[in-house]
Amino acid sequence: MEQTITVKIKLLPTKEQALILQTMSRAYIETINTLIAEMVTSQASTKKTSKDVEVPLPSAVKNQAIKDAKSVFKKVKKSKYERIPVLKKPACIWNNQNYTVDQKHLSFPLMVDGKATKTAIRCAFSDKKDRIGHLLSHKLGTLRITQKAGKWMAQIAVTIPVEKRTGSKEMGVDLGLKVPAVAVTDGGKTRFFGNGRENKYKKRAFRSVRKKLGEKKKIKAIRNLDDKEQRWMKNQDHKISREIIDFAIEHDISVIRLEKLANIRQTARTSRKNEKNLHTWSFYRLSQFIEYKANLAGVQVEYVDPRYTSQICPNCTKKNKAKDRLYKCSCGFETHRDRVGAMNIRYAPVVDGNSQSA
Ligand SMILES: [Zn+2]
Repeated sequence: MEQTITVKIKLLPTKEQALILQTMSRAYIETINTLIAEMVTSQASTKKTSKDVEVPLPSAVKNQAIKDAKSVFKKVKKSKYERIPVLKKPACIWNNQNYTVDQKHLSFPLMVDGKATKTAIRCAFSDKKDRIGHLLSHKLGTLRITQKAGKWMAQIAVTIPVEKRTGSKEMGVDLGLKVPAVAVTDGGKTRFFGNGRENKYKKRAFRSVRKKLGEKKKIKAIRNLDDKEQRWMKNQDHKISREIIDFAIEHDISVIRLEKLANIRQTARTSRKNEKNLHTWSFYRLSQFIEYKANLAGVQVEYVDPRYTSQICPNCTKKNKAKDRLYKCSCGFETHRDRVGAMNIRYAPVVDGNSQSA
């Protein structure tokens, strides 16, 4: 089995290099948009080659743009021309024969004075150097360069071999606010992940600083604070998902079950809170992180119907409401209320398609 992942590397181009990247990435999406428009008009895939496309891009990059445009057109045609996408975000793509990466630089052809010239751009690997180095020792795919919040990022597709875990041991994982994640294995082993109370405290602290900044109308500082909060939340999700996978491997789990998230669930969970306390924690992102890391570890992820998972008795399927911390059923079953969801998720019906949409 193989798994394709995206390795992200922050680039540190010189001013001149950044200017070239900007020009090239604009030319790249403009080329694609033009080709798509042409194909839509003629209702046929383009026969153009890099020689026919007159834009200041290396021919390998032009070929990549033609390839991208064709694949977009294929989807447009399939949708019977109902939706014709127009790319807006500047980006530029090189195929794997056109770039090399070493300890400090990413080298690929840039248009310098009208000529494709292989150029080395510095990378900011920081503390992730060893991990990135290891990932990049596998099969490399395309290199995509984009600008995000003023920073230049390289996204490299890497295909790595994954050994699928065998066996039939399953584990249910329930995501929530009070307890960020609860996992229960089919053997009944339970673990709680993250700290809901600490998260709440942290979010409240962010909110109070934001309020003060708002009174002083410090727009830029507010934006920086929001970014900081987003980074912190993302980091928490990374940490929790990592710990969940470690726990799964420790218990020889080959399938993780998660609730298929609908927006309904998010509203249901938020509606209990008052407006001011509106949380913006993404259960969706956390489940994506879990799926991603699970797949890399050869663990399969299945999504189940979330209905009644917190109410049904795991022993007799009668519906009960937990009182305080204890969940009690007339059949004699009782357990900590926060375990019930994950216990039921283990055996809840798997939803078709096995993956969720955003
Ligand atoms: Zn019962």
